[in-house]
Amino acid sequence: MVREAGKLRGWRAELAGRVTKPRDLPPGLELRPEERAFFRGHRREAPPFAVTRHLLGLLDPADPADPIRRQFLPTASELSPGAGELEDPLGEDRVQPVPNLLHRYPDRALLLVTDRCAAYCRHCFRRRVSSGRRRAFLSPAELEQAAAYVDGHPEIRELILSGGDPLLLSDARLRALFARFRRERPELALRVHTRLPVVLPRRVTPALVRLLAGFRPLRLVVQVNHPRELDPACRQALGLLAAAGLPLLAQSVLLAGVNDRPRTLAELFAALSGAGVRPYYLFQPDLARGTAHFRPDPARGLRLYREAAALGPEAPRYMLDLPGGGGKVPVEPDLLGEREDGFYLLRRDGVVAARYPCYAGPMSTSGKKPKDFASVMRKTGKKLGKTLRGAAQATAKAAGKTAEVVAVRTRISAKQVRQKAEFLKMGESFYRARKSGMSPEQILASMQPQVTKLDTLQQEIATLELREKTLRN
Ligand code: SF4
Repeated sequence: MVREAGKLRGWRAELAGRVTKPRDLPPGLELRPEERAFFRGHRREAPPFAVTRHLLGLLDPADPADPIRRQFLPTASELSPGAGELEDPLGEDRVQPVPNLLHRYPDRALLLVTDRCAAYCRHCFRRRVSSGRRRAFLSPAELEQAAAYVDGHPEIRELILSGGDPLLLSDARLRALFARFRRERPELALRVHTRLPVVLPRRVTPALVRLLAGFRPLRLVVQVNHPRELDPACRQALGLLAAAGLPLLAQSVLLAGVNDRPRTLAELFAALSGAGVRPYYLFQPDLARGTAHFRPDPARGLRLYREAAALGPEAPRYMLDLPGGGGKVPVEPDLLGEREDGFYLLRRDGVVAARYPCYAGPMSTSGKKPKDFASVMRKTGKKLGKTLRGAAQATAKAAGKTAEVVAVRTRISAKQVRQKAEFLKMGESFYRARKSGMSPEQILASMQPQVTKLDTLQQEIATLELREKTLRN
């Protein structure tokens, strides 16, 4: 461990100085009510919280919708499970022939090296592992067991190091780990999944780069979700790795409220390419507990992805990991063709392999059926009508005016209720038209009759209001 006058320094000092308690957030960063509610309702078993000073420096404290804030500051939504969510969304616990080693695909295995991350992503699909509460690193016995398994399975051609974040290990531990796996299998390819170039770029020291380059073939897969994450420090870290001849790939997650805009995605893919990183996969979020607020509907995701892909040549593949552990499948119209009870039925080789929630209507995160739009509209209309009629009668009574004033005011109120309902219907038609893939021109043309109806209603209301004014005078 690197120490200076008894103190940590470099990336370790920055790691030790990360924020793990809301009271340590910078003074200008006010928590929003839903963020405060997370900390109030936080239990020991709830997902951990930690954010690096580097990330806090990228965040705009004045913007409640800041993409960095949304990814790293928790909200109370995480404390309530959503429809179809799973503790182990990809069935990883079922494919561990020895502890901490996943062997799902014949030619590769994945080692869960640590349960620690420098900053905890609020959408993390492996939060049951990256809890910071299990074990910081594999014990020598566990490492030996995993290495012996890989030694005995020559069909495994690549070992993926993941967790948690494997680059939180010291250089010495990493060297020992790589060396052990290469001892019997010198040809074994290595892949490191990390988020440190984004959340703690100082970890990418020249010494680490030399160490990684010494164990080629080795490639790095970095998770990057928003162009803002690629700040100068992150680019410099990626540049060091690329200059050492290490292939760099990016995995991104399509996250509602973070990057679910075609232009943002296109910018992200272009920025990654510019930084020497190949955009590899864009993932539909997995069904990890408490992450429903991050999941866009996959059909919408597909539209966003296609629009983004049309804006530049760098688009990765848009993939979904089948819930329960059926493997990765590309998100395509055929995959989303069947629905039942608020879930897509996802087929693989002709059979339903998994179910994934639809979020096409007003979203339910409680496991209840999504609300029906028409019933929302009826209820709103009734409530509004009652309020407006009551207000009209009270106004006329207070003014001591004639029954004719009351009648005119009641007609105005009724028309205003219809106007509100027409607005709601128009919103629904617009939503459906967008969903069906119509062009903006087609949408405008299809909505022309509703626009005319609203104009007529507006004119009728204006005429009645004039009549009411005359009567009152
Ligand atoms: S860095 Fe990876 S493992 Fe850690 S919290 Fe983020 S997504 Fe999860």
